[in-house]
Parts: sequence; structure tokens; C-alpha cells
Amino acid sequence: MFGSGQKETLLEVQNLRKTYGSGDNIVRALDGVDLEVYKGELLVILGSSGSGKSTLLNMIGGMDRPSGGSIRYRGREISHFKDRDLTLYRKNCIGFVFQAFNLISELTVRENVALTADTKNNPDIVDEMLDLLGLEEKKNKYPSQLSGGQQQRVAIARALAGNADILLCDEPTGALDSETGKQILIQLQKLCRENGKTVIIVTHTREMSLMGDRVIRVKDGKIQSTWVNDEPEDAERISW
Ligand code: ADP
Ligand code: MG
Repeated sequence: MFGSGQKETLLEVQNLRKTYGSGDNIVRALDGVDLEVYKGELLVILGSSGSGKSTLLNMIGGMDRPSGGSIRYRGREISHFKDRDLTLYRKNCIGFVFQAFNLISELTVRENVALTADTKNNPDIVDEMLDLLGLEEKKNKYPSQLSGGQQQRVAIARALAGNADILLCDEPTGALDSETGKQILIQLQKLCRENGKTVIIVTHTREMSLMGDRVIRVKDGKIQSTWVNDEPEDAERISW
């Protein structure tokens, strides 16, 4: 179980700030966030709508540039990355899973997963990820032929196919009914426990914090509190 033994820091965020607009209309979406993310942990970021969760995830994922502060991935400052390195970081280190799945409807399941796949390092990665997410039989279907839960599993397979070691999940169950949502959480926890992936789940649903190895509560762009669950709940046993 996570927590025993030495912790390896993957991400180190210091005094991270992001503002939108200026003058009277300034919005401090992130207002001095400090955060470490450890390899192999399941981190839940909990906060109500507008608290800055998606902004934080987008900064960590190199999707948007901070207004101030620093983000280090394995000791390297990502805001110093040249465009090419930032693209490689997004492609190979980070996988994104969104509430709305964001699959390409004209492509099959297999083609969607292949989009980000790192086949140079592993020619079998697409099939391995389809297998891992239980999608082998759906590989030639199109997204519209799948249920919401299946589509989200495709999105997770795609997020992992680039060899990502960190999975950033922004309200990953938000578009699903709670039973289907639970199946997705079970998958995410399994990827963490059995495959060593680092999983960050952003949510406004308090019950989901029970399954986190660690929980961070954000409010108004600041971290309000952080705690460790000594015995994280199995996702199977969570309901909301
Ligand atoms: P959450 O994901 O927790 O709901 P967000 O990170 O999306 O919160 O937003 C945090 C704050 O920043 C909100 O007040 C939101 O309105 C504002 N915000 C987010 N993105 C933008 C943007 N592109 N332009 C202006 N304001 C934004
Ligand atoms: Mg959001």
C-alpha cells in the first residue's frame, strides 16, 4: 500500500499563481499553491466549483502557463521548457482524462487510443492499453456505439498510451451515473495500486476523497487543508 517506504517526488509546485483579467476584473484562479505529488499515489483534489481545480490541473499538465511560481517535474522546471520539450512532456509524461471524454467520433476505439501512443518504445502499447481497460472486444467500434463508461475507459487508455506516468483526471465521473462512475474510479485506483501510475483526481464530490491516499482541499485558489488517509477506502465501497 502507498505510504510505506520511501516517497519519490514527481511534481513539486511552489507558490503557483494564475490570474485572469486585470484591474477591477482580476480573477486569482490560483493564489499561491504549494504542492508535492509522489510517485504511485492517488491524490484527490477536492473543491467546489470555481475553486481553481481545473486551472491547477491545466498548469501541472503544461496546457497553460502560470502567472507566477514554479512547477518542477522530476526536478526540471516546466515553465523553462522550450515548446518542443513542453509538447513532449504533455505527450509522454502526462495523460489527461476529462469529464466529457473528448474522443474523436470519426475514429474507432483503437484509432483513438493510437493517437497518443508511444509505439516507438513499445509497438504493442495500443493493444496492451485496450486490454488493460477491458476494451479488447470494442476496439473496432466508434465512440457513439459505446456507453458513457466505456467511452471514459477509452479516454483513460488513450491517456496512458503515451507512456504517461501521471494521469490527470478532471471530474472524470461528472458525466456518468454514479454506478458507472464508480466503475471508472475502480479502474483508476487499480491503475494506481497495480500498475504504479500516479493518479490525480479532481472532484467536487466529498465522498471521493475517501479513496485518496492523500487529499487536498482547495478554496478560492488556495490550499485550505491537506490530509493523508491511512487506510484509503476501496473505490468499490464509495457511493455518492
Ligand atoms: P474549478 O475547476 O474548481 O471549477 P476553475 O479552475 O475552472 O475552477 O476556475 C477558477 C476561477 O478562475 C473561476 O473563478 C473561473 O471563473 C476563473 N477562470 C477559469 N478560467 C478562466 C478564463 N479562461 N478566463 C477567465 N477566468 C477564468
Ligand atoms: Mg473545473
